[in-house]
Amino acid sequence: MEHFDVVIAGAGISGVGGAYHLTHQMPGTSYVVLESQETFGGTWWTHKYPGIRSDSDLHTFGYRFKPWVGAPIATAEEIRKYMGDVIEENGLAEHIRYRHRIDKAEWSSQDAQWFVDATRTDTDEKIRFTCNFLWMCQGYYRHSQGYTPEWDGMENYKGTLVHPQTWPEDLDYKGKNVLVIGSGATAATVVPAMAADVAHITMLQRSPTYFRPGRNAIEIAETLRELQIDEEWIHEITRRKILHDQAAFTKRTFEEPEKVREELLAGVRSYLGPDYDVETHFTPKYRPWRQRLAFVPDGDLFKGIAAGKASVVTDEIEHFTEKGVLLKSGKLLEVDIIVTATGFNLCPLGDIAFVIDGKPLDFHDTVTYRGMMFTGVPNMVWVFGYFRASWTLRADLVADFVCKLLKHMRTKNARQISVALRPEDKDMKLLDWIDTDNFNPGYMMRGMHLLPRRGDKPEWMHNQDYWSEKDEIPKTNLDDDAFVYA
Ligand SMILES: Cc1cc2nc3c(=O)[nH]c(=O)nc-3n(C[C@H](O)[C@H](O)[C@H](O)COP(=O)(O)OP(=O)(O)OC[C@H]3O[C@@H](n4cnc5c(N)ncnc54)[C@H](O)[C@@H]3O)c2cc1C
Repeated sequence: MEHFDVVIAGAGISGVGGAYHLTHQMPGTSYVVLESQETFGGTWWTHKYPGIRSDSDLHTFGYRFKPWVGAPIATAEEIRKYMGDVIEENGLAEHIRYRHRIDKAEWSSQDAQWFVDATRTDTDEKIRFTCNFLWMCQGYYRHSQGYTPEWDGMENYKGTLVHPQTWPEDLDYKGKNVLVIGSGATAATVVPAMAADVAHITMLQRSPTYFRPGRNAIEIAETLRELQIDEEWIHEITRRKILHDQAAFTKRTFEEPEKVREELLAGVRSYLGPDYDVETHFTPKYRPWRQRLAFVPDGDLFKGIAAGKASVVTDEIEHFTEKGVLLKSGKLLEVDIIVTATGFNLCPLGDIAFVIDGKPLDFHDTVTYRGMMFTGVPNMVWVFGYFRASWTLRADLVADFVCKLLKHMRTKNARQISVALRPEDKDMKLLDWIDTDNFNPGYMMRGMHLLPRRGDKPEWMHNQDYWSEKDEIPKTNLDDDAFVYA
């Protein structure tokens, strides 16, 4: 049984960032990163569908400490190369154990430590680690399998059915007719990436999504590069400019949603022309930003449609047939391949069985401290990033918080830290993990009962607002009564 000061769960963008911050902010801390897959990358390793790319810019999806020097929207390969450089430049590789799946994490107050049970996925060997602190960077969805709804007659379909999350690397789609079910960011990536090679590709959606076409470049970064400014400066200035513009845009979606909607639709029309039925296929019923807004670099999705290689159908599936799907309108779509771009299975804590002092833990019974810690769960922090802003902005903020917390525990000679509702919080209204009026993607709505709850006071909220948290999280008073040390 090996002991570490910290176990980091997962080697995605959050876990690798955590390892970097521990190395630099807490030198001498012993830690291990346990990752169930065969390499680092998380989301950017799991997903291998054609065209896989970010929909955030990499200046803000990249870490604050390592400049991003490429085009803002990046492929999975480019993101992994960037993460690989972080691992190499900082000597993180020796701390990462791949093919180690954490199955169980048991906290013992008596020992003031976690017992972490893992399985080596290559040998099936069971290994136990102990640690003082658990840093959960395992993401928010199940990596092994995506979400596919049950449709009538699916078993009758004789063609090839694939989910983007488990894309068969040898899938041959050249000259085939393909149907993509869904119209989120994944569908908007797969459709243009496959359009040139297939006979035809159809994107079938129940309801439309907002898309934002634009050039895959950031003007200020281009200008600063022309002026031969240092990449560190370009990274910082470009991040500030992007975040400034995003804050202004988000504010506008609340204050003048109609105007923003019209602008977004005008962007789509500029590619598809006046005769295209934008009203039916690209005009969502919800307010812009209520679900993640998909950026379409260089309008590639729309170019495929305008060229006649791709089309959009807005309808519902009645049932599957041997050759495709019958829609509620009576229309039949017969295809060789069906891609179900229908989302994820929410998996709050990596399918890990948590036990606290002998009692199995249900995360829905806990209340979150600022979306990072949980009542009744000592010495643990979960990195849950932003939806509207880049995930990594929060991963960096939470990493600072963890390091500050660990230092504070050392100063106080404390072995255990928990968050607990104070007497004045006892009657606080408890709410769902996120405000679903504000943001309501399908996987969240399906899995809300699995997630911790939040309160309605700032310290018990999980507000998903980078612009307030960037000031508030660093100012956290670790001697507040909400923190209990032992
Ligand atoms: C296709 C796609 C595109 C996205 N694009 C963007 C984007 O452009 N911008 C943005 O902000 N967000 C985006 N997201 C959200 C994205 O998931 C996050 O931004 C980010 O990559 C999450 O990083 P993470 O390290 O926290 O988690 P993940 O990337 O999910 O990595 C978690 C890692 O933990 C490992 N793990 C899980 N459970 C265990 C366990 N029990 N034991 C050991 N290891 C475990 C997993 O194998 C995985 O490697 C996208 C998501 C998807 C699916």
